Amino acid sequence: MADQPLTYDQELMNLPLSSIGPCQACYIWIDADGGIRSKTKTMDKIPTEIRDFPEWNFDGSSTGQAHTKDSDCYLKPVAMFRDPFRRDPNKIVLCEVLNSKREPVASNNRAECKEAMKLARDEHPWFGIEQEYTLLNTSTKHPYGWPIGGFPAGQGPYYCGNGAENVYGRPIVEEHYRCCLYAGVKIAGSNAEVMPSQWEYQVGPCEGISMGDHLWVSRYLLFKVCERKGVVTPTFDPKPIAGENWNGAGAHCNYSTEKMRNKGGRTVINRAIEKLKNKHEWHIRQYDPNGGADNERRLTGANETSDMHVFSAGVANRTASVRIPRSVAEDDCGYLEDRRPSSNCDPYLVTRAIIQTTILDEREELVNEKEVEAAAESKKVNDKSYQKSKSMPAVQFSE
Ligand code: ADP
Ligand code: MN
Ligand code: MN
Ligand code: MN
Repeated sequence: MADQPLTYDQELMNLPLSSIGPCQACYIWIDADGGIRSKTKTMDKIPTEIRDFPEWNFDGSSTGQAHTKDSDCYLKPVAMFRDPFRRDPNKIVLCEVLNSKREPVASNNRAECKEAMKLARDEHPWFGIEQEYTLLNTSTKHPYGWPIGGFPAGQGPYYCGNGAENVYGRPIVEEHYRCCLYAGVKIAGSNAEVMPSQWEYQVGPCEGISMGDHLWVSRYLLFKVCERKGVVTPTFDPKPIAGENWNGAGAHCNYSTEKMRNKGGRTVINRAIEKLKNKHEWHIRQYDPNGGADNERRLTGANETSDMHVFSAGVANRTASVRIPRSVAEDDCGYLEDRRPSSNCDPYLVTRAIIQTTILDEREELVNEKEVEAAAESKKVNDKSYQKSKSMPAVQFSE
């Protein structure tokens, strides 16, 4: 941006608004490129549940989600959060995007994820995603705090580092963490990453569809916190600086079902890993928004990653596709960590893929087998009744 960033006038921002009067609902949604859009609606009454928010719409032709001649898209409110920027009683409302026929648009991966989560509900699937990102200088597009056109000293002191020489952009991290807590986003922790200006926060454990919901809202909050600084923006690109000198960014997805969490769960974890292995390529296609092309730059086998073309698993192994945390190996139950998802992944696609492979595939096979069995059974019955009818005297109908 050529001009100086604008700051907020706190006198006006703090104008007393009645806490029981109208409030603002910030409707947010995911656009065609994994960006987040928002617009605000005045609510006459303070909403207390998701049903209080009316369906709304927007011009889908301006976000790459509809044609100009049929441009209206619907916003279907699905999850409500507190708004840390406008504070109580104002709200953030996460929405699904539907087309004019009220079908999910192509970028709406939540709808299918929701269906899968509904089917797998009795397994109580939990997820925890470690969201890595890099802060960029908005003018140079170079990582924030790096020498202009150059590089800082090599990796080593930055991961979980402290001190002005090692830390690039901590105010963003702290403000974002507090915003998540205020909003009701289930943030679990944060740490500085291996590359300077690269950070991580974890969201979870979240059950079912709420994983995707909470992660998307956390990303929105991050964009907004950065926007207020005016000079820095997050990128979720999985390899912002090419080459092995600088780590890429991922979104490790930790996963467990109730059976995995309970005694003897390790057997269930091992079986899940076997299933993940058998569908490795399909998972890679779900794990970044470009069908694997983004992860190709990141999952090279170097920089604490696995080789994208080979599935591997191991205890405490950070070069494996799937890692079993050491504590899980010790307890014989717990969760697994799928290290393959890219930092710019759609968590709805990632969690849905994991559920499909580890829970639903088997059930579908079972249903198919049952259908085959049932078909065979009904054929037998027919055969029997046929035989019966042959062996029995024909029924005499009286006219
Ligand atoms: P790492 O050692 O890989 O850096 P982190 O501490 O950064 O791990 O992240 C661990 C993540 O795992 C957190 O998001 C946490 O919520 C999640 N998690 C912990 N227990 C479970 C569980 N039983 N099922 C699913 N996710 C879990
Ligand atoms: Mn981590
Ligand atoms: Mn990390
Ligand atoms: Mn991890």
